Amino acid sequence: MRRTLDVYAERSAIAEAIISSAADLVQFGGELSVVAAFCDTLCKSSQHILLAWTWFGHPDSLLVFPQVYAGAAHGYAKNLKVLRDPLTENGPAFSVLTGQQIKSFSITPDSPFPPWREAATVYGIANSLAVPLSSPDGKEVGIFVVYTGTPDYFDQMGVGLFQALGKLFSSVLSSSAEVKTLKTTVLTDSLTGAMNRHAMPGIERRMERQSETDPASFVMLIDIDHFKNVNDTYGHEVGDTVLQKTAHLMRTTLRKDDDLIRLGGEEFVVCLAQTSREKAMIVAEKLRIAVESNRDPLPVTISIGVAQVKAHRPLTESIMEADRAVYLAKRSGRNCVRNDLDTNTPAEE
Ligand code: GH3
Ligand code: MG
Ligand code: MG
Repeated sequence: MRRTLDVYAERSAIAEAIISSAADLVQFGGELSVVAAFCDTLCKSSQHILLAWTWFGHPDSLLVFPQVYAGAAHGYAKNLKVLRDPLTENGPAFSVLTGQQIKSFSITPDSPFPPWREAATVYGIANSLAVPLSSPDGKEVGIFVVYTGTPDYFDQMGVGLFQALGKLFSSVLSSSAEVKTLKTTVLTDSLTGAMNRHAMPGIERRMERQSETDPASFVMLIDIDHFKNVNDTYGHEVGDTVLQKTAHLMRTTLRKDDDLIRLGGEEFVVCLAQTSREKAMIVAEKLRIAVESNRDPLPVTISIGVAQVKAHRPLTESIMEADRAVYLAKRSGRNCVRNDLDTNTPAEE
């Protein structure tokens, strides 16, 4: 279903819609809702634009996803997660983040990137453009992405109008208070206050750099023992309180710079940067004892797997090793700590 494109009418319709709503939008509550409303205005002003979304974060991020979005194809944005890999690094999101030239991308049903196949077949998207966003200090960056069903839309329209919108978004979003709130909400687990799994890519980047130095870094996987029994016996709400209490105990036992992440359910990850194996085991034991000694709201224990973070190896592999160590701890009777040397995995080289 192709609509003919009158470039001049299209440009002026978009510009007019944006400008006329700008005055009202400034009255809005938060900057993010302003950006969301601009995206909405943009999509409504044009029959050709199917989706517009923005993401704002650190330039090193391994994951980019729509934080605010609008348009007929919003269902596509809702589930979209772009992980940095050799394929996506050359796609619109990451090529813009890494400062390459802005260009439009064709989206076809036989694209090598699976989400684009869905975009093309399910939502009729044919062409996209990503525009960089940046804060005045350059520490935060972001992207503004527009999708259309018209294959040569951006070649005909030019990128100027969208770049100008990107500039507007940058200035709206660079209010540091809003950025902080956004980061906190996006990266924090609402139940326990620990970080959530979306924080992992940022941590991975940092640990990757740190693991090249000596001493090494360690990661722990922590799993509450027989947690299902807590839910089954006392109910889900008590289960939630146990999760909160356990997270709080661990947070207060750890150093400020140690990361505590709730991976999901009753599983947590702790990242200890620049720590010896011996110290990592001591910290794990401290956590185990802190949880074991607590009786509020009821006694629970944890099993912990410790694994080394190695240079040039994804953090997820270390977490998998920690997971094997947790499995061993469970088999050893739970409420104990095991590490990657205990699991006797065959040497990799
Ligand atoms: P194990 O000692 O082998 O780890 O046994 P377990 O019972 O802890 O492990 P299992 O994986 O069987 O059960 C985990 C339970 O955690 C099941 C699930 O219902 C519960 N759970 C996951 N997320 C939440 C949550 O957010 N709140 C509550 N209350 N329970 C949760
Ligand atoms: Mg579990
Ligand atoms: Mg468990």
